[in-house]
Amino acid sequence: MTNTVPAFWSPRIGALEPYVPGEQPRIENLVKLNTNENPYPPSPVAVEAIRRAAESGLERYPDPTSLALREAVARRHGLQVDQVFAGNGSDEVLAHAFFAFFQQAEPLLMPDVSYSFYKVYAQIYGIQCEVQPVDDGLRIDVDALAARARKGCGGIVIANPNAPTGIGLPLARIVQLLEACPQRVVLVDEAYVDFGGESALSLIPRHPNLLVVHTLSKSRALAGLRVGFACGQSHLIDGLVRVKDSFNSYPIDRLASAGAVASLDDEAWFRTTCDKIVDTREGLSLQLEDLGFDVLPSQANFVFARHPQRDAAELAALLRERAVLVRHFRQPRIAQYLRISVGTREQCMQLVQHLQDILAPT
Ligand SMILES: *Cc1c(COP(=O)(O)O)cnc(C)c1O
Repeated sequence: MTNTVPAFWSPRIGALEPYVPGEQPRIENLVKLNTNENPYPPSPVAVEAIRRAAESGLERYPDPTSLALREAVARRHGLQVDQVFAGNGSDEVLAHAFFAFFQQAEPLLMPDVSYSFYKVYAQIYGIQCEVQPVDDGLRIDVDALAARARKGCGGIVIANPNAPTGIGLPLARIVQLLEACPQRVVLVDEAYVDFGGESALSLIPRHPNLLVVHTLSKSRALAGLRVGFACGQSHLIDGLVRVKDSFNSYPIDRLASAGAVASLDDEAWFRTTCDKIVDTREGLSLQLEDLGFDVLPSQANFVFARHPQRDAAELAALLRERAVLVRHFRQPRIAQYLRISVGTREQCMQLVQHLQDILAPT
């Protein structure tokens, strides 16, 4: 990067520090455990629905209100349709939520260890942030966050289970945050909740300031389709719709709608794949501990682990030489951790075998 802003750029974009997604390299026989994708394919019913949707109607714009998809979400989660907003991946939903709710005079609160995209949205929309340190076990310090919120804030955003730690908070802790911040929105990003977390969706009727965001990218294996949604009382959804209709009227295309609806209605496929991933995660955690890693207790489809004797960046590089990709964040406090997505049992076995070789005394 240079310090000069290239010609034609608006002045502010030179100062942005964009999110860096995990790499998607074209390497053969890659064991890809770096972006928390589902190792299993999506529901075959969803794939068939996409195929059928491709066969007619693509010359027409899709439904700007994404009604069929919102109805499927409402059905699945026992909500009203007007309590659901859909977007092009939950990243877009999150961006709209930041624009709609967090441009306030007081700072937005978030933990210092969290999904790194939050700071990028804050930056692009000029939202001031204040981070609250997680504790020594990398757990979100809810008491400290709530105490800070009571002094006045522009809102709170957390991921639950948290990224990239995988640690989940019980519902009582979410209620504590909601009650500490009654004048502003508390956004709970539940991208990983289907792998064992407690969802805050049941709190929506009682809490007008709660917005819960979900994605079909992880537990429903549809990262390539780009569908996410937000749930909250209808006044929050109305705010999101205003932003959406000032940005892109058609975030959900016809193929995405068909695939997402079919996926949400295929409970059996969803259950089976999530259960397999949770089971593999527990086995992988134990195997990593046997290799000497400290492994945080995960309720997500990844584990966050460090080896007390080996540098995490070096381990990630050595694994990469062996065509095994894991994620390493060069960030304060977590620079010695590796985030390892839970793959198939076979992929996890390969990872463990390579780590055994790497860690073996020479
Ligand atoms: C993966 C992820 C998202 C983004 O999901 P998409 O729907 O694919 O945009 C959002 N939040 C967290 C915490 C994630 O890990």
